[in-house]
Amino acid sequence: MLDTIAHNLQDLKNSSGRIVITTHHKPDGDAMGSSLGLYHYLKAAGIESQVVTPTDYAEFLHWLPGNDTVIVYEEEKVESQKLIAEAEYVFCLDFNALGRINEMGERVADSTAKIVMIDHHQAPQDFDDERFVEIGASSTCELIYRFVNQHLDPAFMNKEMGECIYTGLITDTGSFRFGSTTSSTIRTAADLMDIGVVPATIYNNLFDQNRLERLQLLGYFLANKIELIEDGKVAVAHFTSEELKKYNVITGDTEGFVNYGLGIKGVQLSALIIDRDFLVKMSFRSTDVFPCNEFSAEFFNGGGHKNAAGGASENSLENVLNRFKEAIKSYRQYL
Ligand code: 5GP
Ligand code: MN
Repeated sequence: MLDTIAHNLQDLKNSSGRIVITTHHKPDGDAMGSSLGLYHYLKAAGIESQVVTPTDYAEFLHWLPGNDTVIVYEEEKVESQKLIAEAEYVFCLDFNALGRINEMGERVADSTAKIVMIDHHQAPQDFDDERFVEIGASSTCELIYRFVNQHLDPAFMNKEMGECIYTGLITDTGSFRFGSTTSSTIRTAADLMDIGVVPATIYNNLFDQNRLERLQLLGYFLANKIELIEDGKVAVAHFTSEELKKYNVITGDTEGFVNYGLGIKGVQLSALIIDRDFLVKMSFRSTDVFPCNEFSAEFFNGGGHKNAAGGASENSLENVLNRFKEAIKSYRQYL
């Protein structure tokens, strides 16, 4: 499969204007970083492409170079559907199941485009024609960097691409602190600095541009919302939809909150459960052996990585909270 990809820069050049790059709904730093990173690479190599995201994404990612060129499927359906229908290539980045791109998944499944999956999640579904997948890699961004080095022409990498790729490296590794960080991740970061990326600038853009309201929400969360169960080994927190309204919560505001639970001594699993009105969304983070992805798949129709996963439910918040507390009992051997 990889050999096929190896011969594709020329193919990609010939397909000018008909490449769609997409990523999972509510894209995070790695999803947007990898998508715009690949976009900038292709642009520098003289190849047109279009990033189409299924939904909007957090404001703290809007500074990314190329952000203005992104089309949001939900907001521009006709244009997005046309792009997908006419595409020769659809790059699917940072996800491995069509359900992760909502309604867009049906369009991608119906398209005649060659589908290339670049991703680091477990258990990829079989909807692609070619894939560059390393399960457990730090980030899709690290894989894009490697993909370009191994299969395309690294000479076209530039600072814009580097800034996008660096973003995914640090957002998916919690600024190089999670277990998924390898020497290759750090080397990638060093290489990106050599093409002009300034880490302090990226960090500032991502993490030091908060609305005061968001920090106040964090204060409220830390002071009131974290509950310890299972002898202090599990931290669970939730937000009701009323709380979200009261604090004017917008997309991205609760990003990273789930990690604070893991900062408590003895906690092995942290869960954040949020009532988004039409859907209850949950995030799980663990240290060591607790398999968040298996737990999430078994009880909440979710998935992800061993130490970071998510899921969703159409049941009530109360129902999900109770289900979580019951479900965790059958995973005590991992705590
Ligand atoms: P987060 O908690 O930040 O939303 O997601 C953590 C990880 O779990 C990410 O890698 C994400 O791709 C995955 N994930 C989150 N929600 C879902 C879900 O509903 N289904 C699946 N399969 N994966 C999810
Ligand atoms: Mn990722």
